[in-house]
Amino acid sequence: MATLNSLVKTFLLWELLQGLRVTLRNFFAEKVTIQYPEEKTPQSPRFRGLHALRRYPNGEERCIACKLCEAVCPALAITIESDTGPDGLRRTTRYDIDLFKCIYCGFCEEACPVDAIVETRIHEYHMETPGQNILTKDMLLAIGDKYEAMIAADKAADAAYL
Ligand code: SF4
Ligand code: SF4
Repeated sequence: MATLNSLVKTFLLWELLQGLRVTLRNFFAEKVTIQYPEEKTPQSPRFRGLHALRRYPNGEERCIACKLCEAVCPALAITIESDTGPDGLRRTTRYDIDLFKCIYCGFCEEACPVDAIVETRIHEYHMETPGQNILTKDMLLAIGDKYEAMIAADKAADAAYL
């Protein structure tokens, strides 16, 4: 009897019809896929992407070279050197982040007492030549300058959750 059943199902292309039924059902269902990169999914203000160093509205660097971010980084991705400037304030003379080492944990951002180092929502970037994985201080500040409005809005939205 089982053999006869199997023969009939084979003759009627039963498995194929079952597959087509699934296709038909999903054809009219609401789509869960999007046409990336033209369409994008919503992002959390807490998304941890490309790093940036921020400035105060008067243009002064926020970073005070306390090195807490360097100490807390579990991947040893941050390298900081510092010195005292002519104004007597301690500043970084070198601030590098190795994006190949970084695991995007966000600890550096959490540890920073002055909201200087942040992870932005930027996630579409790539490297083409060796060495481009190192973000220097100037590059980090440039990212911060360019996306300050977005960073500030995300910080405000994040604070509203708490
Ligand atoms: S996100 Fe984590 S791994 Fe990356 S630099 Fe910051 S602390 Fe280090
Ligand atoms: S980015 Fe923040 S935690 Fe890191 S050295 Fe500067 S002030 Fe300290």
